[in-house]
Amino acid sequence: MLQRRWFFPLLSSLGLAAPQARNPYAELGLRPVLNFQGPVTTVGASRMWPEIQSIMAEAAKDFAVLAEVKDAVGVRLAKLCGTEAALPTSGTAGAIALATYACLTGNDTAKVRRLPDLTGMKSEVLIQKPHRNGYDHAVRSAGVRIVETDSRDSFINALSPNVAMIYYLGGTRGDWAWETPVPLTDCLALARKAGIPVFVDAANLLPSWDNIPRLAATGVDLLAFSGGKHVRGPQSTGVLAGRKDLIDAAWLNSSPHSDSQGRGMKVNKEEMIGLLAALEKYSRLDFAALDREYARQAAYVMDELRKSKLHVEKSLFERGRRVHRVIVDWDESARALSSAEVLRRLLDGEPRIAALPGPGGRGLELTFLMNDPGEERIVARRLREIFA
Ligand SMILES: *Cc1c(COP(=O)(O)O)cnc(C)c1O
Repeated sequence: MLQRRWFFPLLSSLGLAAPQARNPYAELGLRPVLNFQGPVTTVGASRMWPEIQSIMAEAAKDFAVLAEVKDAVGVRLAKLCGTEAALPTSGTAGAIALATYACLTGNDTAKVRRLPDLTGMKSEVLIQKPHRNGYDHAVRSAGVRIVETDSRDSFINALSPNVAMIYYLGGTRGDWAWETPVPLTDCLALARKAGIPVFVDAANLLPSWDNIPRLAATGVDLLAFSGGKHVRGPQSTGVLAGRKDLIDAAWLNSSPHSDSQGRGMKVNKEEMIGLLAALEKYSRLDFAALDREYARQAAYVMDELRKSKLHVEKSLFERGRRVHRVIVDWDESARALSSAEVLRRLLDGEPRIAALPGPGGRGLELTFLMNDPGEERIVARRLREIFA
């Protein structure tokens, strides 16, 4: 009681008293959007579970030794993934970069400091042609050359002592072999013989969660996925999981180590804790029930839009995971409405709605993956108004 009289005025004069609830978007003159694009970074990708928001707020109140938080969180992430070790990263892209640095430097701190100068290190990363994507820029940030192969023979020929790592894009169908000249099990066997670690970008494998432990069980050296997509943890987080020696090397190459190539890929303690909490929740979700819910949302919107005489169909894009996408199409000249105009009206309306153009820039594509029940009614109503 004694302290009350001076304590609270002191806290508030230092800016430490609990603030009133605010709407930060409104204060910036902004309106949030309903997201029918899926986990896409440009609209924020992840809506954190409410309990994760409060766990992070608690974690943000105290200081803690970052390496201890990393170790404790890492042990539990690894247990969930079914790997020897794991590291919270700045998204999958950060994990791709750190995996590459780790394979180049190992635990040699002189090499860590030297990157991206590759003196005394290997200088190539092997990627099969269908696995090339924009995110492999993170591989090149190590200073390495990407060797692209387009057949099993060229892959085998490229397995030289100068290859530091193989980047493998997950998210392909069933056995992860779709369109891939060297499917995963074959790739792992060949890489093991050549002594080259295999990294699998598993960002495309969620949902559902069991794809991750299943991938880990194949014996991949490293895998990574995003904490800020369907997992609904902090948007800028990810997980790098796999061999302990490589995970330790990845940590040496990242924040808080000042003189390291990955210093800019910082993950703070509350993000690490939020990521773990989100993944603990995510790994226990009923994915069959979630899938039924997304299917229901998609079916509702399709039924409604058919009433407006729009052509609707389910997208065939499915690969190793199930994502419910609806393609909406119409005769643009008869309706005097282009795809771009409809997208603009959705985004300018109330509430704002973010969707994507359909295949080939025609029509619309609506993804049902990040939506609360009820949002399907809003998007259907807005589209019916636009086409009325
Ligand atoms: C989204 C994505 C990434 C990047 O993930 P971030 O968590 O945003 O860094 C990398 N690879 C693939 C295949 C992805 O889909």
